[in-house]
Formats: sequence, structure tokens, C-alpha cells
Amino acid sequence: MFVSGKRNVLFYWGNISIVADVDRLLLETGLRPDTDFELAVRGLDGQGAQGGMIWGDPRLFESPHATVSVDVPGGVWQMVAQPRGGWPVLSLFGSSLFWLALGCTGLFSLFVAQLNRKQRQLQQGNRELRRSQARFERLAHYDTITGLPNRVLFQQQLTQAIAHGHGLAVLMLDIDGFKQVNDSLGHAMGDLLLQQATARFLQELDSSDRVCRLGGDEFVFMLQGTHGQINHQVRHLLSCLRRPFDLNGNAALVTGSIGLAWCPQHGEDVVNLLRHADTAMYVAKESGRNAWRPYHPDMTQRLQQRLELERNLRRALQHNEFELWYQPKLDLFSGRVEGVEALLRWRDPDHGLVSPGEFIPLAERTGLIIPLGERVLELACAQLAAWRAKDCLPGPLAINVAPLQIERSDYVSSLAVALERHGLSPSLLEVEITESLLMESQQQACAALAQLRAMGVATAVDDFGTGYSSLAYLRALPIDHLKIDRAFIKDLPGDDDAVAIARAIIDLGHALGYHITAEGIETQEQYDFLRNAGCDQGQGFLLGRPMPAEALQAWLDNHRQRHSGSR
Ligand code: C2E
Ligand code: MG
Ligand code: MG
Repeated sequence: MFVSGKRNVLFYWGNISIVADVDRLLLETGLRPDTDFELAVRGLDGQGAQGGMIWGDPRLFESPHATVSVDVPGGVWQMVAQPRGGWPVLSLFGSSLFWLALGCTGLFSLFVAQLNRKQRQLQQGNRELRRSQARFERLAHYDTITGLPNRVLFQQQLTQAIAHGHGLAVLMLDIDGFKQVNDSLGHAMGDLLLQQATARFLQELDSSDRVCRLGGDEFVFMLQGTHGQINHQVRHLLSCLRRPFDLNGNAALVTGSIGLAWCPQHGEDVVNLLRHADTAMYVAKESGRNAWRPYHPDMTQRLQQRLELERNLRRALQHNEFELWYQPKLDLFSGRVEGVEALLRWRDPDHGLVSPGEFIPLAERTGLIIPLGERVLELACAQLAAWRAKDCLPGPLAINVAPLQIERSDYVSSLAVALERHGLSPSLLEVEITESLLMESQQQACAALAQLRAMGVATAVDDFGTGYSSLAYLRALPIDHLKIDRAFIKDLPGDDDAVAIARAIIDLGHALGYHITAEGIETQEQYDFLRNAGCDQGQGFLLGRPMPAEALQAWLDNHRQRHSGSR
């Protein structure tokens, strides 16, 4: 090696020998040591990349993928290495590693996509679960027709109110006449009425008040305030129901009956408050509807008696504890027996003979009047058949029919079947329907009366004068007899009003073609007045009390003897 001296004179310095670790060099370039490679060195005069070539092909430096600097005395050399024939062109598609990586990436993406889909499904599932939970919550706690809280939620709200509040009242409200709306206009209109009633109730309530629908036409309210405020609100609730409802063009008129229980006087827990409000509501209903009653402990006692009566009535039906008594009907002119009326009696083993006034209203309320009415029909037909067999028929037998029988059961066809079963002519039966029934369910009653008459069964309006119907209205009905209610007979002949009414009914009734019967004749004066006023027929204690069939037989024999004797 030469180094430059003064005045650019070169001096011989000595020899340099390089020992290079080529394997390491190759490894650093990423080549395996057994690769066939070429080497080149530059840096003549120790000037590295700037120096002249020392050894090898200078083109190797043109693409210097693997160079290494080597320190030498007085400067730097640079070495380069390259596989013989050049560096291989790296192709991704030729690499199995690439395909493996690509495959893995694809699978991974697929996996991620699946994961996302599952996640979305899971989220949607959760949303639906939440929605069906929402929905389930609504079903469990809210009424589907009115959207009001149901009994479960209301009980929770009431429990809280009892714990926090005072001046708390629980009201039970039942819509009078709802059944008729449902029956005549259909359930959809019934639902509409419930919705409209709910809207009216909500308008009447303060923000702290609550209302729920218990089911059917029963609502329960929880009101807060003083006695005065709550009484005022109760009256408003009743009056808001009285306004006509427009059910898709059908006008419907209903009223409400409300029972009220105060907390804590009438109960300190949900069960007692609801029960006592319910009891009071029944009393309000029985008092004539469109009314409200605060609870009183006596009411519970009466309710228990009624429940006991109902139990006994069911048992009585099973054990055939009913019998018919018969009251004669007389022609007021001739005094002849023209027929008899069958009056129901219940021979209770514990309480003895029970009159229909005590159990018929309950039988009507509970629906027991339907099987009871069937029993009356059967007893009446069996008795007629027995009289006919002995050839001692006292004339046509009149039976009383309750409103519910005409409304609910297939009364006319049951009657036809009973007559046929006993081989009886329809002319042996007469059916009495109270005037109030005619007013309540005019269409059904009218249709039933027309069918009965077409069969040959006579029809009568019972208790006439109590149902506020006019004679002009009755004219359109298929009726043979009018029975003047006892209320108009009892003050005859002393009371001028009673006289005027009795005369008017008899005269107008006759003018319209009816046969007139006076009920409840107790005195000879009443009898005389009615006969002179032109009344056709009479019934009453003066003439003959209701009696069992055997007693009637004796009475009839006796009467016949007296009658023939007096002629
Ligand atoms: P109703 O059909 O008007 O029967 C007349 C009622 O007046 C009977 O009462 C009879 O005993 C009573 N009575 C008759 N004459 C006199 C009298 O001179 N003075 C007084 N104070 N009362 C007299 P009862 O038997 O207690 O029946 C009461 C009501 O029960 C009947 O009134 C009728 O509406 C109903 N009823 C009776 N039997 C049946 C039945 O089989 N089915 C149905 N649905 N109702 C019945
Ligand atoms: Mg009667
Ligand atoms: Mg009567």
C-alpha cells in the first residue's frame, strides 16, 4: 500500500490482507451461505464508495443489495455481494407462504365477518327479546282493550299508595247496561264503549289518581283527597258515564254503579279495600243502579247471607225442593173459576217455605232462573197432565216468566217441548210477563210473545202500571190479558186517584181489546168496585189464596158447591 507524502510524492507503506467472514456477510443479506455468489471490493486509497475498484465486477455496485463497509488503515473499503445471475425476482403469487398468509387472512376475514353477523344477530335477538319482554310486560301489567293498568299493576300501585298516603279511597265501578250493548251491538262496540268510557274517566282524574280495568265492565279507582273532594269526583264519574256514547253511529246509553271504601277506615290493605269497595258496589247496583254507596260493615253481612242463599238455591235445584202453588182466577161477574196462576214456592229443609220474592231476584242475578224456569215449566205441565187425567182441569194455567228466561234461553221451544212431552194442548197454558220486562227487552220479549201466541199459548202483561209503559205502546204487542198491579187495587175504592187509574186502565184496555184482570183483591169493596167498573177477572186473598195442588182441589170442589148453591 502507498501513502502520499510532501509535494505529492507517494511512499510505499506496506501490504494489507483482509480476512472477511463471508458467511456472515451472506446471512446479513438474507442469502443462504451456500448460495453461489459474486463479490466485488472498492475503495482504492481507503476512500470507500468514492474510491476506485480494487476487485471484482464494478456492475455489482449498481444494485447494491448487500454492501458492507470495512475499516482499513487510512480509510474505508466497500464490499458488495450478489447471487450469481442476479437477485431472484420475488413474486408474491409464487410464494406458498403468501398463499398461506392469504388463505389465513381470508379465513380470518370470513371468521370476522361471521363473528360480526353473529354479533348483529345477537344484537337483533336482544332487541327482539327486549321488545317481547316490553310486550310481555305490557300484557302482564296493562289491559289490552283500554291500555289501563290491570289488576296486578294496580295492586302494586295501591300497595305503595297505602304505605305513603292518607285521604285514600278505593272505588269499584261497574257499568250498568254494558251487557245489553255487548249483546245488541256486538263485542267490538262493547270494546269501543270501554275505550270511550276510559277516556272520560281519565279526564275526570287528577294526576295522583289511578284507574285500572279489572275485566268485563268493572273498573277500580284509587283517588286521593278529602272526603268532600272525593265525593265530588265520584259524582262526576257517574255523570260522565250518563252522557250518550257514539259507537260508530250507534247511540248507547249506560250508567254506573260505584262502591267506595276508605283507607284506613274500611281496610288497611289491598285485599280488604278492594273487597269492601266491591261489596258497596253491589249494594249500589241493587239500590237501582246509577248510584254510589260508601262501604258499611252491615253490607258484608248481607252479602254473606246472599251467598248462603245462592248456595242453598243451587242445592235446592239439585234436590228438587221447589213446588208450585196455585191461586184461582175468577170471573168477576159470574164468580166462576176461569183458571189458576202457578206461583213458585221453595220448601227449604231448614227455613221452611220461602216465597219467590226472596229468591227470584237472586236467581235472576245469578242466572239460576234459567234452570229454575225449566223446572217450573215441567212442574206446571206435569200438574196439568195430572188434572186432565182426573178430568178436573181448573182452566188454563198461567206461569210467570222472568226477563232473563226470555233473553237468554230458548224459552219458546222449551215450552213447546214440555207441552208435547205431556201431550198437552197449548191452549192450556198462559204466560205472564212483567211489564218491566217488556220495557227492558222489548224486541226479544215481543218476538217471544208473538211465537207463543202463534202456538196458541195466551199471553198476559203482569203487574201492569208499574213499568211506565203506555197503553198505546202495548197496543203494538201480541198480548191477550192485562193484569192491573196490586198497587192500584189496594186503595180502591176510597182513593180518588186509584179509582181514576183503575177506571182508565179498564176502559182503555177494553177499547184496545184486552181482557182485564185485577190482582190482589182483598176486600169485598174492592171486588164490588172492580166488578162495577167492568173488570173481567179477579185474583186475590178475598177470592182464594195461593195453595198447593191438593188444597186447590178441595177449594175448587168447595167453590163449585157454593157457586152452584148461590145460583
Ligand atoms: P205475581 O205474578 O204478580 O203474583 C202475584 C203475587 O201476589 C203472588 O205473590 C201472590 O201470592 C200475591 N197475591 C195474590 N193475591 C194477593 C192479595 O190479595 N194480597 C196480597 N198481598 N198478595 C197477593 P208470590 O207468590 O209471593 O209471588 C210474587 C212474585 O214472584 C209473583 O208476582 C211473580 O212475579 C214472581 N213469581 C212467582 N212464581 C214465579 C215463577 O214461577 N217464575 C217467575 N219467574 N216468577 C215467579
Ligand atoms: Mg203473575
Ligand atoms: Mg202480578
